[in-house]
Amino acid sequence: MIEIKDLHKSYIMGSNSLHVLKGIDFNVEEGELVAIMGSSGSGKSTLLNILGMLDVADEGSYTLDSVPIKNLNEKKAAQYRNKFLGFIFQSFNLINYKTAMENVALPLYYQGVSRKERQEKALKYLGQVGLAEWATHLPSELSGGQKQRVAIARAMASEPKVLLADEPTGALDSTTSYEVMELIQKINDEGNTILVVTHEEDIAKMCKRIVHLKDGIIEKDEKIEQVRASEYV
Ligand code: ADP
Ligand code: MG
Repeated sequence: MIEIKDLHKSYIMGSNSLHVLKGIDFNVEEGELVAIMGSSGSGKSTLLNILGMLDVADEGSYTLDSVPIKNLNEKKAAQYRNKFLGFIFQSFNLINYKTAMENVALPLYYQGVSRKERQEKALKYLGQVGLAEWATHLPSELSGGQKQRVAIARAMASEPKVLLADEPTGALDSTTSYEVMELIQKINDEGNTILVVTHEEDIAKMCKRIVHLKDGIIEKDEKIEQVRASEYV
């Protein structure tokens, strides 16, 4: 599903250059649930943003679902992003003046999906995250965990090939974090490929594989026995 080879990324600031990714190689197969772990500043978000086509690498190759991701103009990149990828962020990134349902439906609007189908899909995915009854509520009326579930429904509604989550539990308490991980595990059980960036060991252990980033390289890449979040909620 994802193949990256010898990926490099530096940030230039004035006369200084910060070499953040120093040759990353890794592949992700369909159906995997991968944690990308590392301390703050280790380049996790940089890597995820490149995988999410929100940023580009300086060197190296990236193939997503057999499509080489290279030299794409902004329009093409946006098309691929919509088609292939769903994003989940630490801060939820919901639109405050839109209801849960409208938030889930919005990306579909930009993809040219009809109004009727948008509504059907938004309700379907809100139902899958257990929030059917909250469809007409605003984000301000939802708890942090509920907001993240709306964001997950929004990411799922476009039926992406890969879900990318950057610290999805970073703004949540432990119990709520485990509830969100339980949902992420359920979505993965259904065959969806998911990458989760985290600096929390307990969250990483709920994935099936942990990729440890350190000093710009992959220090360790291990398949693990998954801890089920349901044991904690
Ligand atoms: P992580 O997500 O693991 O905390 P990041 O990928 O966000 O790490 O950042 C890695 C390093 O790159 C950090 O030192 C950060 O300050 C730096 N960095 C990230 N984004 C930029 C940017 N747009 N410009 C300059 N430096 C950046
Ligand atoms: Mg980060």
